[in-house]
Formats: sequence, structure tokens, C-alpha cells
Amino acid sequence: MHLSFEFFPPKNDIGAAAFATTLRNLEALRPDFVSVTCGAGGSSTKTTYDTVQHIRNTTALHVVPHIAYIRQSFTQMTRLLGDYKNLGVQQIVALRGDPATVKNEPELPPGETYPNTVDFVLDLKTRHGFDPIVSAYPDVHPLALSPQQDLDHLKRKAEAGATHAITQFFFTADTFLRFRDKMRIAGINVALTPGILPIHNLTQVLKFATSCGAKIPEGFTSRFERHGTDQNALFEEGVAHATELCQTLRREGVEDFHFYTLNRGAMTARVCGALKLNPPS
Ligand code: FAD
Repeated sequence: MHLSFEFFPPKNDIGAAAFATTLRNLEALRPDFVSVTCGAGGSSTKTTYDTVQHIRNTTALHVVPHIAYIRQSFTQMTRLLGDYKNLGVQQIVALRGDPATVKNEPELPPGETYPNTVDFVLDLKTRHGFDPIVSAYPDVHPLALSPQQDLDHLKRKAEAGATHAITQFFFTADTFLRFRDKMRIAGINVALTPGILPIHNLTQVLKFATSCGAKIPEGFTSRFERHGTDQNALFEEGVAHATELCQTLRREGVEDFHFYTLNRGAMTARVCGALKLNPPS
């Protein structure tokens, strides 16, 4: 059983205080690693680095930074990777990144960064000596030309040196299990970890889902909407949904779980507790 938690760099002092509490509470669950997201632009590369450094300095956790190459020139990337090497980082979540996440930043001209994620993964592995973790999309990436092309692309990332993929979040266990079957049939043998998003805020999650292509099952929203504004009931529903999802996946042999915590630990901790995942020693 492997457990990992994803965080984002806190945006201000209030966020930093909340993050410190979340980190302390979730560290007690002894995750295999925690990861820290990045924006696609250089501006947030520093906040990701600072958060990674903070986690390394204040906890015993194994920490994995995300790097989106899309707006990093080769020069910036080499410096960043050197900084991470000096911190003792060994694994990187290697991503393209979304151009829209940082507004008003000019695109880099062709030739100044990697042309695609496959080349980035290859370079991280062979030239820089990192262990790249990559993304996978059970509901198909919205920009993919077809489900097959998406799968072929994942295969190429695996052939370039990725040994582990974490999925985008999804709503039903079936979505993940069908994707896992397709991967195996396609001969993609990387470890596949489901990305679990406990639902704290339905409106926000539906917005995420629309932008990243996660398909919302018919009738799904009513399970939350029926609670109106009752925050306790909504919290319990979020716990119940994520727990059911993980329980079904476990029955199908899934042993690793990556939680998108959104820097909020309580719901993730409840789900891990219900599943008896790495109880505090
Ligand atoms: P790739 O593996 O490069 O591509 C996935 C699919 O999309 C392929 O089929 C590819 O052909 C297609 N595709 C991608 N881009 C294009 C394009 N421009 N034109 C045509 N087809 C395209 N984003 C962040 O900014 N920061 C993060 O920290 C971050 N963390 C993530 C963590 C996980 C586990 C996941 C699943 C996603 C994360 N993302 C993050 C989102 C990710 O950057 C976006 O989904 C991005 O659009 C694709 O990057 P990728 O490396 O996942 O895609």
C-alpha cells in the first residue's frame, strides 16, 4: 500500500499557517511521498521550490516537485534542476503545464524549451538523472486528438523513462479500471496510481472537471446538492464519496492512492482513516 499527498504552494501567510497544520496532520499518516504543484510560468517556480525546501527542512517527508516545462527556457530549467539536485530531490512530476494558468506571459519561441513532454521525460531521466513521474488521463486529456492518441502518448512517456503515472481525478471507479485495462492491453507497464480528489466544494470541483475533461456521471451532483448549505453534511458526503471510490478500487487490486489535498487535510485524513491506510504509529 502506497500513499501520497499533493499540495500547492501557499499563496499568503494565512495559507501558509493552514498548510503547516495540514502538513503536520498528514505527515502522521506516513505517506510514501508528498508532491508540490507548480503553475506553468516561471513566477510560481520559486514558490514551488520554496515549499519543497520548507517541507524538506521541517519534516522527514520524501518530497517530489512538479515541473511544467512549457514556459521554462532550457537555461531556467537547468538552473532549477540543479537547485533541486542540491536539495536532494530525486523524483519529479514531469508535465507540460497549461498555457492558460499564467495569464499575460508570452509563449517561449520554438526551440527554447522542450517540444513535448516525452522529450522532457527523456532529458530528466538520461541527462539529469531524475526519476520522472508522469500524468495519465482516464477520461482522456481534453486536447488529445483521440483516446488512442492519448494512450500512445503515455506509452511514449513510459518508453522515455517514466516508471510511474498518476491520474487526473475521476468520479467513478469504473473510469479508472477501464483505463488500467486499456493501458495493460497497450503494453504500458508503468505503476499507475489513481489521483483521488475528495470533494470539499462541489462547484469548484465541477469547474475543475470541465476544464480537465473529467466526466461527471449522470445524477452525481444530486448526492451533494440534496444537502443544500449544510456544511457538516457536505463534508460527510465528500468523505463518503472518496472512501467508496477507494474501497471499490481496492477490491480491484489497487494498492496505491494519491490524494489531491488542496492543502486541506481533514477530509483526506478521514478517508485514509476509514480505509485504514497507514494509520499513525
Ligand atoms: P501530456 O502528457 O504532454 O499530454 C497529455 C495529452 O494531451 C496527450 O494526448 C497530448 O497529446 C495532449 N496535449 C497536451 N497538450 C496539448 C496541446 N497543446 N495540443 C495538443 N495536444 C495536447 N499542471 C500544472 O500547471 N501544474 C501542476 O503542478 C500540475 N500537476 C498535475 C498533476 C497531475 C497528476 C496531473 C494529471 C496533471 C497536472 N497538471 C498540472 C495538469 C497538466 O499540466 C495539464 O493537463 C496539461 O494540459 C497537460 O500536461 P501533461 O504533461 O499532463 O500532458
